[in-house]
Amino acid sequence: MFFNLKFLKIGAVAFVAMLSLPVSGQDLLARQAPIDKKMRAVDSVALQRLIKSDNLQNPAFELYQDWNNQYAHRCTATMPEVYKIDLRHFCMPTPSQRITSNYGYRRSFGRMHKGLDIKVYIGDTIYSAFSGKVRIVAYERGGYGKYIVIRHPNGLETVYGHLSKQIVQENQVVKAGEPIGLGGNTGRSTGSHLHFETRFMGQAINPAEMFDFVAQDVTCDYYLFKANGRGLALTSEQARNYPDVVYPSDKNKPMLAMAEHAVKPAAPAKKANTVKVHKVRSGESLYTIAKKLGTTVNNLCKMNGITRRTILRPGQILRYS
Ligand SMILES: [Zn+2]
Repeated sequence: MFFNLKFLKIGAVAFVAMLSLPVSGQDLLARQAPIDKKMRAVDSVALQRLIKSDNLQNPAFELYQDWNNQYAHRCTATMPEVYKIDLRHFCMPTPSQRITSNYGYRRSFGRMHKGLDIKVYIGDTIYSAFSGKVRIVAYERGGYGKYIVIRHPNGLETVYGHLSKQIVQENQVVKAGEPIGLGGNTGRSTGSHLHFETRFMGQAINPAEMFDFVAQDVTCDYYLFKANGRGLALTSEQARNYPDVVYPSDKNKPMLAMAEHAVKPAAPAKKANTVKVHKVRSGESLYTIAKKLGTTVNNLCKMNGITRRTILRPGQILRYS
């Protein structure tokens, strides 16, 4: 108690000393600003770290609210109309670029094929597509074979089927790119391959909308999930216009309408008269510049209000179109 008081006193003295400095209020504010900014940065980094670790323990808890280790794709929570999925911190599940079966209706099945098949060989390492928490590690003889379901903080669940070996356990936190299993041919499968699914609250999304296996990249920074209709690939810039989530009869709806309006491809802008300029480098003359830019000395003189005898200086800007 005594020490606390003492420190308090010293603090107060320092504060008074600061106030008595012959500086204007503005100066004082200016001097404090960088410190405040730094503090804020430190705080938000620590906070982000905390949120991140919490996210991995309870990934996308705000969406799912439950965590069961039984059903690969059953979800009873209310599905949002729209949800912005952050794809930026991804890792391709396999370096294989060969798609052997696409997402969609398959006649031989008599039903939908709700994933993407990618050629892998038995024993090939399979990686987690994002950081997250392993929800299911199971075996389904007539279907997925040995499979894994991982839930991610971005709201997605990814499914990896027909594995020869699962090397993670249920409820284990994994990082994007962490090995989770080995490729195989278990379950209902002819020829070793990875059956890869991306689901949002149980609803399958064509993985090709988000993952380009040929390019080994995601298709965009954000994917806007839409409960009724096809999702939207968004750049980070476009994504800024959209609310993170919109529930039916949500107050964010007007914002969504605005975003849809803003992101709609604008009518092609009238081609502006572009002004092209050249920065003079040392040693250049009007003649060499004209030659380089595919114009004439006369033209350069006319456009820049100079004569053939004008001495150019390095760094000078000349308009040439
Ligand atoms: Zn498949």
